[in-house]
Amino acid sequence: MLSLHSRRFATHHATRHSIRTLATNTGRNTLSSMFMTMTKEQQSADEASTSHGLLLKGGFIRQSASGIYSMLPLGLRMLNKIENIIDQELGAIGSQKLALPLLLSAENWKKTGRWNASKGEFFRLKDRRETEMLLSPTHEEEITQLVAHELKSSKQLPIRLYQIGRKYRDEFRPRAGLLRGREFVMKDLYTFDESVEAAYHSYDLVADAYQKIFHRIGVPFVVAEADTGNMGGSKSHEYHLISPAGEDTLLSCSNCGYTANEELAVGKLDDTIKGDEVKDTGAENEVFKALGLVPKTPVTHSLLRFASLDKEGVPVHQGTAVVLARQGRTINMLKVEKTLTAHLQEQQLFMEGGMIDMSTVTEAIPSPTTPIHLFVDDSVGPLPNVPDHVITHGPDHYRTTEAGDLCVSCNHHDSKLTTVKAIEVGHTFYLGTKYSSALGCTFLPEQRGASPKAAEMGCFGIGISRLVATAAEVCHDDRGIVWPSSIAPYRVCIVPTSNNNTQLLSMAESIYDQLENDMAFRVKGHAGSVFYNDVVIDDRKQMFGAKMADAELIGYPFIVVLGKHALETGVVEVNQRVKGEANIKTKVLVDELGSWLFEKQML
Ligand code: ATP
Ligand code: MG
Repeated sequence: MLSLHSRRFATHHATRHSIRTLATNTGRNTLSSMFMTMTKEQQSADEASTSHGLLLKGGFIRQSASGIYSMLPLGLRMLNKIENIIDQELGAIGSQKLALPLLLSAENWKKTGRWNASKGEFFRLKDRRETEMLLSPTHEEEITQLVAHELKSSKQLPIRLYQIGRKYRDEFRPRAGLLRGREFVMKDLYTFDESVEAAYHSYDLVADAYQKIFHRIGVPFVVAEADTGNMGGSKSHEYHLISPAGEDTLLSCSNCGYTANEELAVGKLDDTIKGDEVKDTGAENEVFKALGLVPKTPVTHSLLRFASLDKEGVPVHQGTAVVLARQGRTINMLKVEKTLTAHLQEQQLFMEGGMIDMSTVTEAIPSPTTPIHLFVDDSVGPLPNVPDHVITHGPDHYRTTEAGDLCVSCNHHDSKLTTVKAIEVGHTFYLGTKYSSALGCTFLPEQRGASPKAAEMGCFGIGISRLVATAAEVCHDDRGIVWPSSIAPYRVCIVPTSNNNTQLLSMAESIYDQLENDMAFRVKGHAGSVFYNDVVIDDRKQMFGAKMADAELIGYPFIVVLGKHALETGVVEVNQRVKGEANIKTKVLVDELGSWLFEKQML
């Protein structure tokens, strides 16, 4: 609150609101007392994804600005449920939760070189003293400097700290609501260990915890080998949900299960073009001439200019590169960049915290005396007679793998890779000492007289708000969302068929109380009944048909229908939501409802 005036107004407002709530609130979850029910105010769906339209229609989220959303009570309940599952599983591997600031000073980001390396993704700002700051896009710098202050000896390791909170990225193309927001909710875990082996052990523990988290959430996921980009380490995996709305392409082998992101995937061709057995296409080409190659290879080439920049963004070395691959194939720039970086590092032409700026150019190659880096994809084979000023890298895999390439992992003669679109919901990295070295996060090893060592780090993200949208994307049909029971906003919705029958309403209330309070419905890790605060009564003054349509749109796994028949017989009709099919309807005795639902939930 900024002014006294507004505070007075707010207090007044709050009082009025609480009187109204007191008058209607029975302590039970009822749709009539909730903020924003949706039936009449349906919003139009976003073209980009069905999930976004459904989350708007169902009253889970509202847009505030491009890529920025409010979580309405229903949406927030889901975030909290995912958060609970994550808390339990990360707690089980000895992680502790903390909260880092969202408003960060640029200082540490300059030390790691990421301040200058970011190409416009940061929300940057200045305080009144002109100090440069940013809104947290991620927290490696912040956590590393925090741990750096506290870490003295190896006895304090391992350290595993995580948080669940907001991140800010000025995404080039925010899309599909929560799928790619500019403000979003992420779980980020950071691990600190004394050796590479210990860091790998932490990595494996987190990988196990991730398996449990996604299994408990109940979404079908795949784990893909991924590229580490410029994060520093050498090991990385992505957790994906397969969906045509995804922006990532995965390649996988149905024979051995190999799955990798397109950027990293390696495939084999059944033949390679040998450098000295190439067909004559007759194409004269400046690039080929400069490389001293006979210009008759039916290859595709890319000409690149690159600069190695220090962490202030100043060029320390510049050069030219040519990449060759079989005609018709796409060149994998990321792989080229990685190889080039490693080479320049060896030559001391790449500074700590620096980056490579690379762009494709079309103009002719400079004089043949300047060093040229030649990257030869293994679809081409070794080239003969390359002149001395050409630095050859490869043959290696410098093309993007495509469906139909053979799997290198199982080496089965006809195991062809296939592609699918997927949404990345989690990403794990072994980081090495990139951040700990830059920010002085060191410890004294146990051996006497040993000098301080930089901590080995890992970082592990899960996009929680993206996961809500992704779950809606993969679990919906033309009637609405079909939430997995573990994260549904409510597990059970009780719908009386008539609004005027007080007996029906009190029957709904007693079923509600029975489910909520019966301690027989408990599972490990739950303090009370699993239905506690997970049942809602639809007591709105709506027609029965409209209520059922809303219930199916919102996606409660179970709808308990209460009609006059139930009053007479004590039997209710449970509608179980099944994706793409009519609800499974089962008559259940009220007294047996709890155990029936409990069993069906497979908790
Ligand atoms: P992407 O390739 O989709 O941009 P990223 O590699 O930038 O993702 P990380 O920095 O690894 O993502 O962040 C960890 C997780 O946070 C991702 O796996 C994803 O689930 C989530 N995430 C990243 N960017 C966004 C975003 N703009 N909106 C919502 N979730 C996001
Ligand atoms: Mg990104």
